[in-house]
Amino acid sequence: MTARIIDGKAIAQEVRAEWKLRADALKARGITPGLAVIIVGEDPASKVYVANKVKACAELGLHSVHVALPADTSETALLAKIAELNADPKIHGLLVQLPVPKHINSDKVLNAISPEKDVDGFHPLNVGALATGNMRFAPCTPYGALILLQKSGVEIEGKHAVVVGRSNIVGKPMALLLLQHNATVTICTSKTSDLAKHTRDADILVVATGKPRMITGDMIKPGAAVIDVGINRMADGKLCGDVDFESAKEVAGWITPVPGGVGPMTITMLVANTVQSAERAAA
Ligand code: NDP
Repeated sequence: MTARIIDGKAIAQEVRAEWKLRADALKARGITPGLAVIIVGEDPASKVYVANKVKACAELGLHSVHVALPADTSETALLAKIAELNADPKIHGLLVQLPVPKHINSDKVLNAISPEKDVDGFHPLNVGALATGNMRFAPCTPYGALILLQKSGVEIEGKHAVVVGRSNIVGKPMALLLLQHNATVTICTSKTSDLAKHTRDADILVVATGKPRMITGDMIKPGAAVIDVGINRMADGKLCGDVDFESAKEVAGWITPVPGGVGPMTITMLVANTVQSAERAAA
C-alpha cells in the first residue's frame, strides 16, 4: 500500500479561508479580532515562530501586537505586561512564547494569562475544561492534527488511537481530543514496554516524541492514519519527523509529511482560536 499524503499546507489554506470569513463577519460589526504575542529574550527559533504568528494574523486582516522584551526582563515586569494586555479590549488572544528565560517561572506566566484570552490553551482552567469535555481553547498543535484527520475523511469514532508522547502541549491534549471524538485511546511514553505492540494496534497513530524517525513501517498497522507531529533538524540542515516517512508510507493508509504536515496547522489554529475568542467576546 502507498499511503495518501495528508497535505497540511493545502488543508491549512482551506481552514484559514474558513476562519477569514468568520473574522470578516466580525469586522463588518466593527470588531477586529486581535492577538498579542509576547516574547522575552533573543532565542532565534522563538523569534521565527513569533514572526510567523504575527504574519498569519496580518494575512487574515487581524489586529496583532508583538511585544519583544529583553532577556533580563523581571518576572514582575512580564506579569504587569500580561495584566495590561488582559485588560485591553482590542486583544482577544494573548500568548507568551515559550521557553521564557530561566529566572521567570513559566507556570506563573501561564496562570497569569486570562483564561478567556488563552489561545494556546495552556491555562490550567482550559486544560481542565478540555479534560472535562467542556473545551474552550484546544492547544493549537493537537487541534490542528485533529482537523487534519477530519478533513482527510479519517473516521475517529470507535477507532483505536495511539498517541506516542505525553507532553502538556501535544500528547496529553491530543489524547483528550481523540477521546472526546469517541476514539479508544492509548498513550505511550518513554517508559512503555514493547512500544511496537501498541503502535501496531493503532488505527490512528499520532507521534510526538522529538525522536527522529523512531516509528518505522514495521511498527504500523496496514491502512492506519499516521500523524507525525515531530520536527527535528538533522545535521544536514534538513527537517524530519518522528516517523520514518519512507518505510511508513508503504504501510499506512494516510500519512503527514514533515515538513508540510502538522506544522502549517499549528499557526492556523492559533488564528482560529483568536477569531473564536473575539466571537465569544462579541456575543
Ligand atoms: P516533549 O519532549 O515535551 O515530549 C516528548 C514525549 O515523548 C514525552 O512524553 C516522552 O516520554 C515521549 N518519548 C520520548 N521518547 C520516547 C520513546 N522512545 N518512546 C515513547 N515515547 C517517547 O516534546 P513535545 O511534545 O513538546 O514535542 C514532540 C515533538 O513535536 C518534537 O519533535 C517537537 O519539535 C514537535 N512539535 C511540533 C509542533 C508543530 O507545530 N508541528 C509543535 C510542538 C512540538 P516521557 O514523558 O516518558 O519522557
